[in-house]
Amino acid sequence: MSYKNFPMVPRVVFGRGSFNQLNDIIAPKRLSSHAPFIFLVDDVFKGNVWLTSRIPLSYQDKILYISANEEPKTSQVDELVEQLILTNKELPSGIIGIGGGTILDLAKAVAIMLTNTGNASDYQGWDLVKNPAVYHVGIPTISGTGAEVSRTTVLTGPERKLGINSDYTPFDQVVLDPELTKDVPKDQWFFTGMDCFIHCIESLNGTFLNAFSQSYGEKAYDLCMEVFMDDALSAEDSQDKLMMASWHGGMSIAYSQVGVAHAMSYGLSYLLGTKHGIGNCIVFNHLEEFYPKGVTTFKNMMRLHKIELPQGICASLDDHHFDTMIDVALSLEPLWENAIGKHWKKTITRDKLKALYQKM
Ligand code: NAD
Ligand code: ZN
Repeated sequence: MSYKNFPMVPRVVFGRGSFNQLNDIIAPKRLSSHAPFIFLVDDVFKGNVWLTSRIPLSYQDKILYISANEEPKTSQVDELVEQLILTNKELPSGIIGIGGGTILDLAKAVAIMLTNTGNASDYQGWDLVKNPAVYHVGIPTISGTGAEVSRTTVLTGPERKLGINSDYTPFDQVVLDPELTKDVPKDQWFFTGMDCFIHCIESLNGTFLNAFSQSYGEKAYDLCMEVFMDDALSAEDSQDKLMMASWHGGMSIAYSQVGVAHAMSYGLSYLLGTKHGIGNCIVFNHLEEFYPKGVTTFKNMMRLHKIELPQGICASLDDHHFDTMIDVALSLEPLWENAIGKHWKKTITRDKLKALYQKM
């Protein structure tokens, strides 16, 4: 048995207002006056002076505002990379992603594709990236996905939704400033936060569990319980704790795997474009038989925060549609093996998944 040797984010700063230090952090990484820093910023911040006035721009540095309405695509990464190569004399000094999982994943993928030939879709999978990425920095503005610590960047490609998992994917630097999450809308806060909660449940109840994953998963779970079940928490404490929950949840699945909710949610996302956070919630709501305690707690959290999930999103689908979702879900074999065990194929049949999707 050989154990995986994982890279981790080598530098992280944590603290309310730490975003103010961005210039000091990145300035030493500038390669030349022709090698700009490129800031990929969620377009929800366009015109938001509180945030954008603190983005340090010099020489030919640029802000590119990007919509997070759709999750990142391989074609979008390829277009951004081409644009950056055409408009600059030299490779950028760094790519800085400011936003949620969507923007963080884009920043990681663009940094990788600037130094690797071909298309982003060529690298979807495990350990296919050959050259180190351009220096890249992640600055989350919403907490839960763990994309700020993970070794993957999840992209929807022509054939599948799959991550670029590689040693070059993790950020070189992360800035954790919980204050940046203060204006996240309530529903979105819940859905992305539940991504973290579901990471914990899937990791802690998986067959791949080990002391490494458990230690991070339990901490993330406890923080989620404080954030989502204790209404005495101040807004600031809640933001701080959820940001650290996301970090620990991401670390927990590094050395294990996610499970049933993620496998089925990838199917919804591929066919219907359902976004990760809400998609996980729609699926998880029907997974009592796999995660009885986790689902009960989840329902209590929904009640406490008055969250309504969309109903009947699969109501008008035909057999062909169900087959597509089931194919995507079943192709994620490690997730099923983690959730059910080595012999998962005995119980996880196409009919079983169809019946579950029909409830959603
Ligand atoms: P997101 O980035 O899609 O953003 C969700 C919404 O919140 C968007 O409308 C965005 O504009 C808004 N938003 C973000 N910050 C805000 C702020 N401070 N104020 C107001 N609005 C704000 O959401 P997400 O749930 O963080 O990310 C989902 C993506 O993350 C998916 O593409 C998923 O595949 C990916 N993901 C990646 C990993 C990984 O390890 N790489 C893990 C889990 C999920
Ligand atoms: Zn997730």
